[in-house]
Amino acid sequence: MVQNGNKILESDRDIASQVINRSNVNFNSCYHCRCCAGGCPFVKAMDYAPHAIIRLLQLGFYEKALKSSTIWICVGCNTCSSVCPMSIDMSAIMDALRQIALEHNIKVGQPSILGFHTEVLNSIERYGRTHKLEIMMRYKVRTMDLFSDMDLGIKMLTKRKLDLMPSKVKDIQAIKNIFKSDQD
Ligand code: SF4
Ligand code: SF4
Repeated sequence: MVQNGNKILESDRDIASQVINRSNVNFNSCYHCRCCAGGCPFVKAMDYAPHAIIRLLQLGFYEKALKSSTIWICVGCNTCSSVCPMSIDMSAIMDALRQIALEHNIKVGQPSILGFHTEVLNSIERYGRTHKLEIMMRYKVRTMDLFSDMDLGIKMLTKRKLDLMPSKVKDIQAIKNIFKSDQD
């Protein structure tokens, strides 16, 4: 099992194969041209650039990758994949690392972002789509950061960029079944 600290422990090989199986990406084909880092809109906020996460995986520093803020800051925009000469699906790798980090109770590198992910999923489970205003309000309450971005929120409301009321997809039960099957 992966533990705290930066030690390489006995099941790390298993983690490498889990990343490959879950993402369906062989990260060993990366040759570090760094095009991904050059195009990533969030690279400055990350503790490791996207290609550096791959390097950590290649070298066996799985725990560093799992503890990084990078895997939580990545928004899965696929900008990196679109320029990658090896067509490496970086967002699939980040997804796999997030799943593994949670399963191993690794301290989340960006806890507030996990709260945001959770509220987005809750909204999809409730309505079948995201209700952005509710997500933002719930996230604000969760983080007790109630008043920052207030001006921006009001501007978005007045420009009708945010819906006041949520709308549900027709077959909401099908969506709920997906969430239920994920918990079974
Ligand atoms: S663009 Fe692709 S090959 Fe180049 S460093 Fe990034 S992941 Fe590796
Ligand atoms: S998918 Fe993630 S790593 Fe790639 S460009 Fe987007 S935010 Fe950056």
